[in-house]
Amino acid sequence: MSEIRDNCGVFGISSSTECVDDIYSGLDFLQHRGQEYCGIATFDGKIHMVTHYGKVAITFDDRELAYLKGNMGIGHVSLWERQPVTSQSRLGEIAIAFSGNIMNADTLIRELKNQGKAFYRGYSVEILSQIIIEAGDIVSGITAIANKVKGAYCLIILAREGIYAARDCYGFRPLVLGQDAGRYAVSSESRAFQNLEMEVVRDVRPGEIVLIDQNGFHTVQQLKSPRRAHCAFEWAYTASIDSVIDGLFVQEARNNLGQSLAKRDIDEGGLSADVVSPVPMSGIGHALGYHRRSGITYQEVFLYNRYADRSYTQSTQAAREKMAKRKLSVLPYAVEGKRIVLCDDSIVRGTQILNKVKDLKKAGAREVHVRIACPPLMYPCDYGVSTRSYEELAARQFFRSGNITTMKKLRELEAWIASKIGADSVKYNSIGAFVKALGIPKNALCLKCWDGVSPLVET
Ligand code: SF4
Repeated sequence: MSEIRDNCGVFGISSSTECVDDIYSGLDFLQHRGQEYCGIATFDGKIHMVTHYGKVAITFDDRELAYLKGNMGIGHVSLWERQPVTSQSRLGEIAIAFSGNIMNADTLIRELKNQGKAFYRGYSVEILSQIIIEAGDIVSGITAIANKVKGAYCLIILAREGIYAARDCYGFRPLVLGQDAGRYAVSSESRAFQNLEMEVVRDVRPGEIVLIDQNGFHTVQQLKSPRRAHCAFEWAYTASIDSVIDGLFVQEARNNLGQSLAKRDIDEGGLSADVVSPVPMSGIGHALGYHRRSGITYQEVFLYNRYADRSYTQSTQAAREKMAKRKLSVLPYAVEGKRIVLCDDSIVRGTQILNKVKDLKKAGAREVHVRIACPPLMYPCDYGVSTRSYEELAARQFFRSGNITTMKKLRELEAWIASKIGADSVKYNSIGAFVKALGIPKNALCLKCWDGVSPLVET
């Protein structure tokens, strides 16, 4: 799929007992958010840290887990940066990890270098660390980050007094608090809590700075939030289907998006098909929603190879295409002679859906009707979640400029995409239908990759 520069997950916990096993498991449950690097830092009077190239379950060994002592700690999974990072300064020793993208990173690095600051690798997380140290205390540092950094981020910082967790003032990325007797934790997604037998407490609010210690959660600062801008792509694709983000279950969102696609088909005269099927895994919720609304039989037509990685979070296009080939194989018995409604989350370049349609037709499918939960992707993402350039976007090959503002334009694009990928028809949710299906006010969402509108408020 698309070229992405950063997509990652964070987990932190303060516990009445040794915490490393919980961090290890928490990161394992966030692994879908990034598979290139992982790292854990714990504190028992001093910070211990181990980072790896690769996934949590295949890189950490027993000796390292035994070394990571302490009752509190943080962890990170990532596509691009090896985190956490530690620093020694007048603030003492801290470890910091973040999920997001700093749009003005080059400017900030230049400014900090001009002030005499040195960088180890020039990672974005080092910029945040330098700003915090310069501010003199962690809360002032996070406040300074909110003023200086343009972009999207969730931050966790391990310090002597506890773990600080902060979400940018727009709440682009998810960040949620969970607890159980003697354990207080923060995670990019709630699924980590349910699998650690902890209960979800609440989302960290946009602009909120929370200190997590052995006594629980303490809001130490609430920065002004100009508006909310939750990444709508999280519900459609990025997050795991067993998570709940800002009060909306991911599964519910995907079911609603699929129902919305079925409603459009019904409103436009109905679609005669034998089965509705997902492109696994992210298409499953959408296909189930389509099935519920249309009454068309739900039937898997691809076998998912559970040992293959998610194609989207591979770091290069070549790796993504190779992984996509390994990921799915056709179930010929379910396909032969069938008219199939094939549901997926989005189309970026269109190469993967083209291959899927080709595979189904080769296996004897009579018709393949592609239904896409997200509206056509028209703009790159600046906030570290999705595509990075216009060239990657199939819809931009058809509409070189402007937006899809009418159903007529949407239908023109759909007909062109259908001919490009060899499908019998293609339909997307319009932006209006997409927002309605999520049930979240439009002005609380980031929709920039569909409508081009940056949610950042100039101050
Ligand atoms: S531009 Fe798109 S992918 Fe990026 S944060 Fe906004 S909605 Fe999410």
